[in-house]
Amino acid sequence: MTNRRTFLKTAALAYPASQLLIATAEAQAAYVAPTSFSRDYFAEIGVKPFINAAGGYSAFGGARMRPEVAEAIRYGTYNKAKVDDLHDAVGKRIAEMAGCEAAMVTSGAAAAMVLATAAAMTMGDQEKIEQLPDTTGLKNEVIIQKNHRYTYDRALVVAGAKMVEVASEEELRAAIGPNTAMMFWLLANHNPDGDNIPMDRYLEISKEHDIPTFLDGATMTPPASNVIDACKLGFDLVGFSGGKGLRGPYSAGLLLGKKDLVAYSRANSSPNSRALGRGMKVAPEEYVGMMVAFETALAINEEEDFKRKREIFARIVNQIGPIPGLKAEVIVDAGMVDELYLDLEWDQDQVKITIDEFVEALRSGSPAIEIRMLKFAGGRVHISSTVLAEGQEITVGRRIREVLMAAT
Ligand SMILES: *Cc1c(COP(=O)(O)O)cnc(C)c1O
Repeated sequence: MTNRRTFLKTAALAYPASQLLIATAEAQAAYVAPTSFSRDYFAEIGVKPFINAAGGYSAFGGARMRPEVAEAIRYGTYNKAKVDDLHDAVGKRIAEMAGCEAAMVTSGAAAAMVLATAAAMTMGDQEKIEQLPDTTGLKNEVIIQKNHRYTYDRALVVAGAKMVEVASEEELRAAIGPNTAMMFWLLANHNPDGDNIPMDRYLEISKEHDIPTFLDGATMTPPASNVIDACKLGFDLVGFSGGKGLRGPYSAGLLLGKKDLVAYSRANSSPNSRALGRGMKVAPEEYVGMMVAFETALAINEEEDFKRKREIFARIVNQIGPIPGLKAEVIVDAGMVDELYLDLEWDQDQVKITIDEFVEALRSGSPAIEIRMLKFAGGRVHISSTVLAEGQEITVGRRIREVLMAAT
């Protein structure tokens, strides 16, 4: 998963702004006016819209679903099937695509974590399922490495489990006992300190003790093929966000892995009205939407997708035009999966505006624009193209020019 990433990073960094000024007439012609809607709901209720040039952050409304996904969702709202039949079939298709035994659609990766934990504690026993989050008499400990503690680990305790933190193989062996329900792993670059225990050892030890393992790979897309790779790592269950890099429905996610554990996870979820996960309901149209999102994401030719994104950035750079002291460069973010950003940097003696002021100016302008700001290395500002609707890049480029020129 990393080799190609490293390669792309190097390649991308050698791609200066001057070479970006290649926006062809063809690319300009690709501009399509935003779809017109019969009503402007946001305007009617006084909600202020914004152009998302930051990326698919949850608070910013997630990713933009591809047209195929929106179409699948529209289909799903018209055509009704029994929810369990539909989930069986969708799960089977997703599992085939991912190359794993079974799959289900969850209400996000966080719900996948809750349901996986509930499954590991109850193992399909309806009485135990109804008892949660009271874990009296149940295995109720989830082992997590110290360096894998993160914001979302709260989802591991929602079903009533307790986290047991370990920092070494010794501690892991000592922590495993009759109450161990599951062993957790975070697949991400969120843990800069690395893993406390190597993955292969962690998995070997879990197998020795027959303890189900769960891997959170929520952010590890694109490419969607990382889901397939994650399924091969040897974990019993893996969870992914549907509304991030896979560009599925905002509230959907995937839980994939062993047939029995996926079935137990489903038993802890809607439509089982006595299940703890009853409130983590997924709409039937989202089942179809998530399936099509995964299918569409897998079919994406990444080289072509990068080319398309570079063209979007080229149009932005074209709109910004030459500004003394400004450097614009397409980069692959080292801290994330394969994602391109347009990195902007300027000499503050020539363009007298700080990064914070720049972000604020775009945010409070008309139309409002959000970009990505990273706090490290003295602060970086990045433009993401993933959520931009067609044509919005022109507005983004023009606004950036206005704001920067006003500071020269
Ligand atoms: C976003 C995220 C989650 C939660 O994902 P949702 O699909 O929003 O529920 C879990 N784990 C990691 C690492 C994430 O980045």
